[in-house]
Formats: sequence, structure tokens, C-alpha cells
Amino acid sequence: MDSQNHVFVDGAIVIQHNSIIAIGKSIDILTQFTSISHQLIDLRGQILLPGLINTHVHTSQQLARGIADDVDLLTWLHDRIWPYESNMTEEDSFISTLLCGIELIHSGVTCFAEAGGQHVSGMASAVEVLGLRACLAESIMDYGEGLPASWAARTTDECIKSQKDLFMKHHNTADGRIKVWLGIRQIMNSTDRLLTETRDTAKELETGIHMHIAEIPYENQLIVETRGVDNGTVTYLEKIKFLQNNLLAAHTVWVNEKEIDCLAKAGVKVSHCPAAAMRMLGFSPIKEMLSAGVCVSLGTDGAPSNNRMSIVDEMYLASLINKGREVFSTGTTNPTALPAETILRMATINGAKSALWDKEIGSLEVGKKADIVVINPSSWSMMPIHDCISSLVYCMRTENIVSVMCNGCWIMKDKKILTVDEEEVLSMAKHASAELLKRAGIQIPNRMNFV
Ligand SMILES: [Zn+2]
Repeated sequence: MDSQNHVFVDGAIVIQHNSIIAIGKSIDILTQFTSISHQLIDLRGQILLPGLINTHVHTSQQLARGIADDVDLLTWLHDRIWPYESNMTEEDSFISTLLCGIELIHSGVTCFAEAGGQHVSGMASAVEVLGLRACLAESIMDYGEGLPASWAARTTDECIKSQKDLFMKHHNTADGRIKVWLGIRQIMNSTDRLLTETRDTAKELETGIHMHIAEIPYENQLIVETRGVDNGTVTYLEKIKFLQNNLLAAHTVWVNEKEIDCLAKAGVKVSHCPAAAMRMLGFSPIKEMLSAGVCVSLGTDGAPSNNRMSIVDEMYLASLINKGREVFSTGTTNPTALPAETILRMATINGAKSALWDKEIGSLEVGKKADIVVINPSSWSMMPIHDCISSLVYCMRTENIVSVMCNGCWIMKDKKILTVDEEEVLSMAKHASAELLKRAGIQIPNRMNFV
């Protein structure tokens, strides 16, 4: 995933502390580093990739998996997700992030960008324990109809102050694995002042902004009606100079050609979440964005929008959804759209750029941090391999990922997570989610004739 797309067949990598100090053909590395042979790890027959990066995930929604399946958008938001999130405690957020982190690690993720959730301090404690890297952000809204009472009371000043405090408390903690970003939930819940102050605060703190952008046609329609622009959210954000290269725009489905151009010129990064797109939002013009020069990466979105938090599944879906979309956009099929090597870059180096972290992660190169995924392709799901790059995208399952290293430390080895006790987290999650749903008054109707 370096700029020349190097693939080292029979390769080796040398790690010192938390960094990569050499990479190349194993024969060259072994002659160059004769004294380290006693620390050699033999991974013959396996494939090493840079740690995968999930650029849009709601860690605090993990306990809400299955609470909003097959319901319309308004029910999803007003009757399920908002009551759930507004009743969360910091402890719930901690447990939810632990549970989410376990699934992320199993799918080869070493770094994620939080979409904006509840109780950043709970998330930070979990990330520290899990051994992952993360850009954390709070869910921020200062305006909007139908908000739960505890959220509606929040002023713009409180929203900014709370995030500045979180930045001071958690930014660059956990050996530099945690960054704190600013969040904007979405434009329909933001005043103009919140948008411009968030933009200025991010510049002052030299950090990123994570925001859901142009998710549904109604959002664009409302912006046209209320904020005096001729198209939608992206056009409006361009007008108020909100589009900058530290902005990570999630979904970004309903954009026109002119708006894609604005995103490219401003250096805005886009997180494409194929499963959530198919389920709830629509087909984003990813191919067009990539050809315009927009940096597009991959995200899972939250558990209630996708259910599976595996970036391996998203790689597979990203390639299929965008090939399928060609039929609708051009009238004919196009199996060459979004080829495997593009998808791999989206899940690695583009993810790192989106997380504003590409100087340190996203590729296996000398000087970068040792964030590495070990894949065992010797299974019914991947054999035989004639084209290893396409096999990684079209055949690999989460189960092929055997070991994961983040910041030079193994966090999963031979499919066993080393940093937390999985069984214990599962039972904590079962208990906490049942209590939380009770507190929030959420009842999931029976679909079939339960006896
Ligand atoms: Zn989201």
C-alpha cells in the first residue's frame, strides 16, 4: 500500500518497539539482520496487510444491534436510536465500545474513526484497554425537532466547550493511540454558529471533524428550503467555507457533479459505508468521486444500520454495490468498476488519510507504526489463490484473519484477543443492553408467532 503498490512475495518485515524499521524480500532482510534471528516469527504461507481502517463506526451503538431492523427511517431514529443513545451511561458506552472493538479486531481493524457518540470518556477507556487506535468524537447537536429532553437543552457554547474539554483530557493519550476529533451529527441538527465554530475550533486544535453529510434526499430538500442554496448540504457547506481537508464526510450519497468537484478541491475525505447505503440511504457516486480525486475510505456505520461490524464484509460489498450501481447510472453493466486493488487502498491507505494519520499508518513502510494484520488464506473460503489481490477482496472472510498487531503489540493472536476477556465482555454486554432498553422503554415487537 505504498505509493508504488509494492507486494513482497516471500517477504519479511522488521519491527523495533512500535515501528517498522525494514521491509523487503526475506532473503535480503535475513542477511541484513543476522543478529535478530532468535526473535523471528515464521509466517510462511500467510499474507500480511497494513491494519485495516474503519472510518465510520458508532461504537456506542453496539449494544443496539438488532433494535431497529426492517423499520422505516423515522421509527429507526425517533423511537429506537435516540431513546437508546440518550439513556446511555458512561459505563454503557465503555461496554459497547469493548464489544464493538472485539468485532473490529477480529475483522483486522487496527484504527477506527468514531462517527460521534455518547460518552467519549467511556470510549477512550475501552480503546486504551483494547489496544486499538481511534479518532474519537462526541455526538453533537444544538438544534432540531423531536430531540430527547436531555439533548434539547444543550446550547452551542456547551457543545463546543464539552469537546474542547474532551480534547484536553484524551487527545494523544494511550501512547498516542487516541485522537479526539470534533463531531457534527448532521446539518439538520446544527445551527450555523455550531458549524462555523466547529470549523474554527478544529483549526485551532489542529484536529479533524467527523460529520454525516447528504445522507437522504429530504436533508438536501430541507437545506434548499431553509438555508437559501440551490442544491443541498454540500453546496451550503461550501458557501460557509466549512469544506476543508480535515473534514471526514460520512456517506455523502446525494451529491451532484458540482458538489463532487467542491469536495475534491477542498480535500474533504469521504467514508463510504456500503451496507448502510444499501439498507437505508442509497447509492453514492463513489466511482465518480474517486475519479474526481476525492479520497474515499470504508466504514461499517453502526450496528443498528448494518449489524455486521466487519470491514472485510464492507470491502466485498463496496466492490459489488458499485459495480451494480453502474447498471442504474449508465444503463449497462461494468464489472471493471472499483477493482480489488482500489478497494484495498480504500480500506488501508485512504483510511489513514481520512483519519489524518497517513504519516504513521495505512501502509507497511519503513518509519511507519507496526499496525499489521496476518491472514491465513489456507481455508475453503480462499483456496485456490490465482490472484492474491482479488482473493483478499472477493474471497477473504473475517475468519481468515488470524492475528492483529497495533502499535507494535499483538492484540489478537491465533484468533484469540489478548487485551480483553471476550467471554466476560459478552456477558457484560448482554446485561447492560437489556437494562438500557428497559430504561429507554424500547420494546422490539415479535415478528412471528412466538409460543
Ligand atoms: Zn453514521
